[in-house]
Amino acid sequence: MIEIKDLHKSYRMGANSLHVLKGINLNVKAGELVAIMGSSGSGKSTLLNIIGMLDVADSGSYVLDGVPIKNLNEKKAAQYRNKFLGFIFQSFNLINYKTAVENVSLPLYYQGMKRKARIEKSMKYLESVGLKEWATHLPSELSGGQKQRVAVARAMVGEPKVLLADELTGALDTKTSYEVMDLIQKINDEGNTILVVTHEPDIADMCKRIVHLKDGVIVEDKMVEQIRAQQYVQ
Ligand code: ADP
Ligand code: MG
Repeated sequence: MIEIKDLHKSYRMGANSLHVLKGINLNVKAGELVAIMGSSGSGKSTLLNIIGMLDVADSGSYVLDGVPIKNLNEKKAAQYRNKFLGFIFQSFNLINYKTAVENVSLPLYYQGMKRKARIEKSMKYLESVGLKEWATHLPSELSGGQKQRVAVARAMVGEPKVLLADELTGALDTKTSYEVMDLIQKINDEGNTILVVTHEPDIADMCKRIVHLKDGVIVEDKMVEQIRAQQYVQ
């Protein structure tokens, strides 16, 4: 689903340049649940933003479901983003004056779906995250966990090829974080490909594979099962 080869990214800051991604190689198959873990500043968001076509690499190659992502103009990139990818952010990024169901339906609006069909489909997705009864409520009336569930439903409603989550539990307490991760696991069990960026080992442990990023380099890439087996031997 995702094939990344020797990806580099630097940020220019005045006369200086900060080399953030230093030759990333990463393949993700359809149906995987992968954590990209690393401390703050290691380049996780930069990598996820490139995978999400919100940013572009300086060099290297990136192929998404067989499509080379390179030299796309803004319009094409936006089209692909809408069709291929779902996003979840730490701060939920819901629209405050729109109800839960209207928030969920936004990707369908951008796909040109008619209002009735849009709301019907969005209700189905709200139901799947356990929020059917909250459809007509505004984000301000929802708890943090509920807001993130709305964001998860919104990210999935367009049936993306890949779901990208950047520190999705960063604003939630521990219990709520685990509940949201349970939901992520359920969505993965249904066959969806998911990348979870996190600096929290407990959250990474709830994925199936952990890619450890350090100073812009992948220093470890292992299946969680394999890590557990090793810990057991030790
Ligand atoms: P992480 O998500 O792992 O915390 P980031 O990818 O956000 O790391 O950032 C990696 C490094 O790049 C950090 O040192 C950060 O300050 C820097 N950085 C991120 N975005 C920008 C930007 N738009 N301009 C300049 N520097 C940036
Ligand atoms: Mg980050």
